[in-house]
Amino acid sequence: MTNAIKKLYYNGMNLLTDNTVCLWIADLGIWPLIVVLVPNLTFRRYGKDALKKRLASLYQAIAVFLVTSMAVLCVERELADIYFWSFLVLIIAVLWIIRGKVFPYRSKCAECGEKLGFNTIYYMDDNLCPGCHEKHQEEHQEEDASLQNDGPEAP
Ligand SMILES: [Zn+2]
Repeated sequence: MTNAIKKLYYNGMNLLTDNTVCLWIADLGIWPLIVVLVPNLTFRRYGKDALKKRLASLYQAIAVFLVTSMAVLCVERELADIYFWSFLVLIIAVLWIIRGKVFPYRSKCAECGEKLGFNTIYYMDDNLCPGCHEKHQEEHQEEDASLQNDGPEAP
């Protein structure tokens, strides 16, 4: 029994009572949440071209909110960090399962493979370089135009 208890010590910390990490995170207050939410406001000017990425940044904010709340809860209930770590593993597992929604970023153009700039990586849903993006938009405009031409003709 004593051996089992000794094993729970790591670098002089008792893993069943130590809560340094939770204290540190709880001390940060709502700042981590503000840091992830403020960029969310900048999505507005990209409109529907950035809907998926805007949602992704919202999912990230929710994850940060849950993690910081868990740290605060652990401090209030005087729970050890080990509960916090277990919760964190759970959150990371969920994020991994829905990773396509939470991290839809690509560093290279989906069409030509060119390196993308920060704004495209962070905001644009299509993950296309400016050149390919323009080409796509022109194609869409042509499609729209031909659809209108194919429509029923007025007598
Ligand atoms: Zn491209």
